[in-house]
Amino acid sequence: MSDDPEGYTFDQARWSNDDEYVPLLSETSAHTAEPGDALPDDLTRDSLALPAPAEPTLVRHYTRLSELNYGVDSGPYPLGSCTMKFNPSFTEDVAALPDAAVHPDRPDKTVQGVLELQHRLQDYLGRIGGMDAVTLQPPAGAAGEFTGIEVTKAYHRANTDERTEVIIPSSAHGTNFATAAMAGYDVVELPPAEDGRLDIDALAAAVSEETAALMLTNPNTVGLFERDVTRAAELVHDVGGLLYYDGANLNALLGRARPGDMGFDVMHYNVHKTFATPHGGGGPGAGPVGVVSDLAPFLPTPHVRDTDDGGYETYAPLQSIGKVHGYAGNWLVLLKAYAYVARLGDEGLLDTSATAVLNANYLADRIDLEVPYGPFHHEFAATAGDRDAADIAKAMLDHGVHPPTTKWPEFVNEAMLTEPTEAETKRDLDTLAAAFNAAAAASDEDLDRVPERTAARRIDQVRAAREPRLSWQALSDAE
Ligand SMILES: *Cc1c(COP(=O)(O)O)cnc(C)c1O
Repeated sequence: MSDDPEGYTFDQARWSNDDEYVPLLSETSAHTAEPGDALPDDLTRDSLALPAPAEPTLVRHYTRLSELNYGVDSGPYPLGSCTMKFNPSFTEDVAALPDAAVHPDRPDKTVQGVLELQHRLQDYLGRIGGMDAVTLQPPAGAAGEFTGIEVTKAYHRANTDERTEVIIPSSAHGTNFATAAMAGYDVVELPPAEDGRLDIDALAAAVSEETAALMLTNPNTVGLFERDVTRAAELVHDVGGLLYYDGANLNALLGRARPGDMGFDVMHYNVHKTFATPHGGGGPGAGPVGVVSDLAPFLPTPHVRDTDDGGYETYAPLQSIGKVHGYAGNWLVLLKAYAYVARLGDEGLLDTSATAVLNANYLADRIDLEVPYGPFHHEFAATAGDRDAADIAKAMLDHGVHPPTTKWPEFVNEAMLTEPTEAETKRDLDTLAAAFNAAAAASDEDLDRVPERTAARRIDQVRAAREPRLSWQALSDAE
């Protein structure tokens, strides 16, 4: 700050009531104070005239705001592909334990408990996915994809085998294409076969010495199990390529089938989908990556291993691709995933996938909309037919539920991709089915008006994205 009050340009008038003028530090002698000195008397006061609403006013304000939102704690949230399962609150209790949050710069020998849990989580995830080594570092599923494909690239490079292409079915999540492109690969897109699954003949024609990897989601994004997965693995491995497993749909297979056993070499885990950590909303997340032993030397650093004396240490894998995030990733998120897996155990994980699949099939059977592809696992793509899927979704909002994912994947006409998860009870599923059916039965005029019972009516999503207003503002009527 300048010593000269004249040189001070801050617009004080904008920040205080004119009659409550508060001198700023730069306009007084306070800038000469040494650190540690008490503030001089002329700079301290006993009262500050801040606005003070009554407590009930404040409580009501925030309670009302919280009620404008809809979350998985409010009711069913069957957003397909996103696996919006209920996050049990005991995982929060575990992450809030005083010894859980240790400074990441502390020496290994002073944080043995945390390293042990990280090691156990690496082990749990490895066993669930059929992978030999797991890194916890990537901060999201998409970041896990990028990490996995970078590991793939490092592996090929170490074999002096540079390749240029990644093959991806067109039904895949958009992040797969972005990952491959960001890693510098050309994307070879495969349209689905008539049954909605991988077109194995098209894959056979597409693989070559240029194939770095095939990225596959299984069950795929309409919940269909890729029956030809072992054949696909053969085709890709025969030309020296690797198989990447997009783990977003692992909830369907938990405890029953493992990507590693199907021939996959590398995968990510979406812990906020499969293992009940919060769906960030932009906050800290995690997307661990598992690999077969040939790829383990390329994993990010640091990695945790056990030592001969029964302890744990961090180390840099020999040919590591480096860091994709600070330290061990978002540890307190990962700890919630650990707590969830440990609490469920083998039986709980089996139960999870069974109930997730049963719930999806029960719900699909109860709704009046057509479900063109099957038999499906944990999610299904209904079609709104000649109606607009977004209209049906908006109508569902008026029935107090969250609607499914709409218009994706694109190969299903007016898709309503629905994933109830194992967390919903039969009663919740019946509520969802009733909302689906009431929305499907609505007249065209009704669909023009919906939603009528939500905090906001139809949002102009394009305008919201192009002209975002990120803070509250009073708008004039003209706007
Ligand atoms: C959610 C999802 C991803 C991306 O994962 P994030 O953790 O949200 O980054 C990738 N693939 C599929 C199929 C998904 O559903």
